[in-house]
Amino acid sequence: MKSRGKKLYEGKAKTLYEGPDPDTLVVHFKDDATAYNAEKHAIIEGKGVLNNRISELIFTRLGEIGIPTHFIKRLNMREQLVNKVEIIPLEVIVRNVAAGGICKLLGLTEGEALPRTIIEYCYKDDKLGDPLISDEHILAFGWANPQELDDIVSMTMRINDFLTGLFAGIGIRLIDFKIEYGRQYDGDMVRVVLADEISPDSCRLWDVETNRKLDKDNFRRDLGDLVDAYSEVAKRLGILHGKNEIPKRSKPVLVKSD
Ligand code: 5GP
Repeated sequence: MKSRGKKLYEGKAKTLYEGPDPDTLVVHFKDDATAYNAEKHAIIEGKGVLNNRISELIFTRLGEIGIPTHFIKRLNMREQLVNKVEIIPLEVIVRNVAAGGICKLLGLTEGEALPRTIIEYCYKDDKLGDPLISDEHILAFGWANPQELDDIVSMTMRINDFLTGLFAGIGIRLIDFKIEYGRQYDGDMVRVVLADEISPDSCRLWDVETNRKLDKDNFRRDLGDLVDAYSEVAKRLGILHGKNEIPKRSKPVLVKSD
């Protein structure tokens, strides 16, 4: 049976296709890397394969602890089958340590401890550059209702606790990450489930011993080889065992850099 149908949407790092039945979609992980709202863009061979595998493992583990997710199964090296959801237009960002956006916003130093874990929301809109918003905006504009927002906060804290431990166990500090949620309809029932992906594209991951960055900051800030860094994460998670499994690749091809 052919699992992939018509192309529905092409995003910066993933393409969505119709799935084998009306309630499912096929997500294809591309090798495209973008940063600064797509002002910087390159093709990095092997990135899609690594993110597909890493995200599969994380969504599977989160499912095992009772977090509802859209993930059904991985289909092949670049594709996974997921339940169709209505994406809630929010980027939910969790920060354990100061880095990136919060340093710029509040003048903090990268690596500084935060007083406690902070959840931020951005409104998903490329044209506006995904602006930082408050829960007041979310409720006032109806992007999520109060019950959905409560569910989002409690699931997000559980996800953070679980992932912090998962990564700590393999010598990695989870500095921050971004997740997205969607509404999954089942007859008259609707529930909020974790959607999109969790991968080194959407997390900041630092080696505990050396502080080496094992995430997309390698691309954003030209710090090092992105596939080497993501392969290291995959190896520590037990996904890649031998060198042959690391995707063979040519040099990154810069598509656009302004
Ligand atoms: P910051 O706001 O510091 O740029 O990002 C905080 C965290 O969320 C980082 O781990 C970053 O990778 C992730 N993040 C923020 N915005 C996006 C986005 O548009 N796409 C992806 N993949 N990750 C994001």
